[in-house]
Amino acid sequence: MEALGTEWALDWIRRSAAVIAENKGELSALDRAIGDGDHGENLDRGFRAVIAKLEGASPETPGAVLKLVATTLISTVGGASGPLLGTAYLKGAQAAGDAPGLDGAAVVSLLTAARDGVVARGKAEPGDKTMVDAWTPAVDAATRALGGGGDASAVLEAAAIAAAAGAEATEPLIAHKGRASYLGERAIGHRDPGAQSSALQLRAAADAATGA
Ligand code: ADP
Ligand code: MG
Repeated sequence: MEALGTEWALDWIRRSAAVIAENKGELSALDRAIGDGDHGENLDRGFRAVIAKLEGASPETPGAVLKLVATTLISTVGGASGPLLGTAYLKGAQAAGDAPGLDGAAVVSLLTAARDGVVARGKAEPGDKTMVDAWTPAVDAATRALGGGGDASAVLEAAAIAAAAGAEATEPLIAHKGRASYLGERAIGHRDPGAQSSALQLRAAADAATGA
């Protein structure tokens, strides 16, 4: 399969914006249960700003697309998730560099750098009931898929499946970071909104690779 290029990156981000808009209410409902109820609104505001910025820009590489996403999310999303997700896209952009296309190994590097960025910034560990619980299984599954000979698309599909499972697996957890950590055992039974929105974005990346 050909490497994933700028069209893929643009499609990824457009699909992310669409799926975040579609799930805005659900994401805020998740955040109402264990936070302050703004996660869907925060992300939707950010992705709408990203789409508006993309209209006036013509980024020429996947890395340039992701850099635009990063700077826009950092300046528009706010809350805990804005700087964290912004850092994910920024580190992903840096890993992509100025390559015109990304093969499976480059996609694994991108995802790993993004996850490492979130961890460096937020200091959450797996099992803390945060977006790290979507990103870390995604990186692990992507790495395994690459090791098994998977191409960029297969790597992203593995990441998307694992991120969705990781988000679901936050439900029984007690939170150790962010607002949800104030709830103690009352957070049990609720899915982490940031893990859910991260899983949606990784599903968008995989679907953009296959044109699904
Ligand atoms: P806020 O909590 O400021 O209202 P959001 O509602 O937009 O911000 O985002 C909340 C999400 O941010 C949580 O569901 C969680 O996934 C993520 N989050 C919060 N703190 C951290 C952290 N230290 N590391 C990783 N993710 C975090
Ligand atoms: Mg919130």
